[in-house]
Amino acid sequence: MSVLKRDPLDTLHSVFGYRSFRPFQQQIVDGLIAGQSAFVLMPTGGGKSICYQLPALHRPGTAIVVSPLISLMKDQVDALRVNGVRAAFYNSSLRSAEARQVLAQLHDGQFDLLYVAPERLMSEGFLERLRQVPVALFAIDEAHCVSQWGHDFRPEYVQLGNLRMLFPEVPLIALTATADAQTREEILQRLGLNNAASFIAGFDRPNIRYSVVEKSKPARQLMDFLGRQKNQSGIVYALSRKRVEEVTKKLQQAGLSAAAYHAGLGDEERRRVQEEFLQDDLQVVVATVAFGMGIDKSNVRFVVHYDLPKNIESYYQETGRAGRDGLPAEALLLFGYGDIAISRGLIEQGRNERQKRIDLHKLNSMVAFAEAQLCRRRVLLGYFGEQLEADCGNCDICLDPPELYDATEDAQKALSCVFRVGQRFGAGHVIDVLRGAKNQRVGQLGHDKLSTYGIGRDHSQEAWGSLLRQLIHLGYLEQDVGNYSILKLTATARPLLRGEEVLNLARPRVRVGGTKKPSS
Ligand code: ADP
Ligand code: ZN
Repeated sequence: MSVLKRDPLDTLHSVFGYRSFRPFQQQIVDGLIAGQSAFVLMPTGGGKSICYQLPALHRPGTAIVVSPLISLMKDQVDALRVNGVRAAFYNSSLRSAEARQVLAQLHDGQFDLLYVAPERLMSEGFLERLRQVPVALFAIDEAHCVSQWGHDFRPEYVQLGNLRMLFPEVPLIALTATADAQTREEILQRLGLNNAASFIAGFDRPNIRYSVVEKSKPARQLMDFLGRQKNQSGIVYALSRKRVEEVTKKLQQAGLSAAAYHAGLGDEERRRVQEEFLQDDLQVVVATVAFGMGIDKSNVRFVVHYDLPKNIESYYQETGRAGRDGLPAEALLLFGYGDIAISRGLIEQGRNERQKRIDLHKLNSMVAFAEAQLCRRRVLLGYFGEQLEADCGNCDICLDPPELYDATEDAQKALSCVFRVGQRFGAGHVIDVLRGAKNQRVGQLGHDKLSTYGIGRDHSQEAWGSLLRQLIHLGYLEQDVGNYSILKLTATARPLLRGEEVLNLARPRVRVGGTKKPSS
């Protein structure tokens, strides 16, 4: 296909079948055709592919597209071929005869685009071949994989940093859907894009309603939520395979059409689940994070996080699979205190100190999002460097602002109890003592003799949990992250304990089954 002289807009119509460019696409396409490199941060579904697929047809030579996911490459190539574009992929899924043929065709200039796995591209043999053919451009998809700050660092991406030096005359475009400020910085630096134009497109997904609910009886909360979703389809994310299996079973027992999806299942089974979900033969997929990469289902009406996501990037990406058709969609996060400790524990097992620090920082941001009593969308977009003009009006906080109450006395009780147990225990034990629990541990430690034993019987366990979290969030208490999340008083707590301060807090938002029924 040779369209070198035509107007890109014609190509957009005739090859891709779209009427007009989306925001930023035209600028990016024009720049790339003119030989300028670019960095593109655009949410999933924003239309990143066009940004390099179209220029590939307007520049002489073959465009080399780097993508980390073999399954995605095949889908993209198939879709391009349907449109008459000469595309192929080169990765470890090819048998050696096929691989040789692809290389021969590349040499003969038979491709507009060639998708290549990063380690293949940077092999000496392949680079040598590339030097013998005209290269239209380099496109690096999922560019956050080059960054250690990113949430999906891949060592094989680091080598890509040499491309600018090896092919200084070939424009390079790096694309990603997820990157906080540090990650962006690192991508630009590692890929040699410091002088390239940056395009950061709107991350807001106004049709998604974000809600966070304290996790109390998660299975029940999930069932109630699903009960309100009628027969709409959606995804439930859980952190472990085991959890995925458990939840799936519960849903199936309740008569819902649900299936599990995780890396422990065979390829065949996973394909089947994906296929059935796409065709609306399956209402709910319960999945670990692996599900959804590259599936394009527009009518996903809800995404539930049964467990706390590891970071805001994942949360955004996973919730972003809801409502791609622009119609109202729900994102529900069940936020449990215990989950924080589990995630911290997993991170602590890591060997690389730097990585641990980064992961903890990201987890803390995720927790702060869940705990914030502010418009969720503000907090979420703020994380990606985008400021909202006003509160969104479409999140649990906006729709049902937290009611404040004078929590001075409750807070004093909680803080004294932390003090009385010697600042050596986590929230669970402190709450047991407050509520006068008669368990073995409390007895053995003699904590049933403390003056604070049983002074908080009037509140539920969840209510005390919520209060302690707010005290942590506001800096009255700190949690010893590296040490079983032990609670300690901070200097801020003193005036409150001495009765010199009044403290208003949000009433605990513990409601079984999620937020108030959406008004529709
Ligand atoms: P991303 O890679 O950013 O996740 P894609 O490139 O896969 O997004 O595009 C997402 C969807 O938007 C696809 O279904 C694609 O066909 C569609 N799309 C992209 N650009 C346009 C456009 N200019 N007009 C209409 N639809 C578009
Ligand atoms: Zn809001």
